[in-house]
Amino acid sequence: MIDLRSDTLTRPTAAMREAMARADVGDDVYGEDPTAQRLQERAAELLGQEAALFVPTGTMANQLALLCHCERGNDVLVGEGNHCMIYESGAAAAWAQVQLSVVGRGGLFTADEMLAAIKPSEYHSPQTRLCAIENTHNRAGGRIFPQAEVERIASAARERGIPLHIDGARIWNASIASGLSTRQLGTPATSISACFSKGLGAPAGSVLAGPKSFIARAHRYRKMLGGGMRQVGILCAAALYALDHHVARLADDHENAKRLAQGLAAHPELLCDPSQVETNIVVFETRTTDARVFTTRATNAGVRMNPISPTRIRAVTHLDVTRADIDQALTLLATC
Ligand SMILES: *Cc1c(COP(=O)(O)O)cnc(C)c1O
Repeated sequence: MIDLRSDTLTRPTAAMREAMARADVGDDVYGEDPTAQRLQERAAELLGQEAALFVPTGTMANQLALLCHCERGNDVLVGEGNHCMIYESGAAAAWAQVQLSVVGRGGLFTADEMLAAIKPSEYHSPQTRLCAIENTHNRAGGRIFPQAEVERIASAARERGIPLHIDGARIWNASIASGLSTRQLGTPATSISACFSKGLGAPAGSVLAGPKSFIARAHRYRKMLGGGMRQVGILCAAALYALDHHVARLADDHENAKRLAQGLAAHPELLCDPSQVETNIVVFETRTTDARVFTTRATNAGVRMNPISPTRIRAVTHLDVTRADIDQALTLLATC
């Protein structure tokens, strides 16, 4: 079975497991885990921020950002299909109790669209307190948010007193594909989250980075949400290993995604534009078949992928998928 459902499916390699087994650990709730501290310092540096906090999931990182930047009833501007709106089980409404307003179409938006979406300061309007972008954008097919626009959005928002949060679950992919450092990508943001559990291949773990005072608040909320972990250095060692060994190789995933898209474009039942593929995600459409029907057929043929709408399907390349697997997947899909 060739599994292209998600880059979260990667399993830790033998060398990563060894790094985890050797990790120097302590009780992180007492602030005594040296490996967690090392990772947090490194992540802050890598993301162009003052401080960072290790968290169990990217969902918690995003939720901490909402809790720390906003108050109940505030308005948060997000791109269409953002993770914090449709894949976090309604957490934004349940915990931070904010309202999310969609800006632009397709996940990306401009500074002008952002400015136009800021609610007026009349008492009957919700107060817009945060702008959140996703880079790369998952549902948009792993699209990289154009950096010049990120910078325009950040400075336009700052002028209005609104912080910018970047959901950088796959910021590593954006960096490798764009040639910009994660530091360059993260610096315009007030806060940024990033995942180690996706293309980097760690079993779990994400990070939230931002100003020191913000991270101090996030630390309290992390405990409140049950995210204070003990000898967490075992997980942080996997993340550190991934930063050393699994970042540059994301270029292979990007090449494989492009190769997959080129093959899918030749399939008579599918609509796929390889020029839209920028990183490790391929989103394509079925012409006549329901996406669920097609993915069921594909699974029976030996290729797993996720339907993401009645006509759209997502395929993701990752550490456990080789170029030969992609070629084999295309051969198998040709029969579907
Ligand atoms: C995966 C993902 C997250 C976080 O997901 P968890 O499963 O909670 O770690 C956040 N944002 C985006 C864009 C993602 O793809």
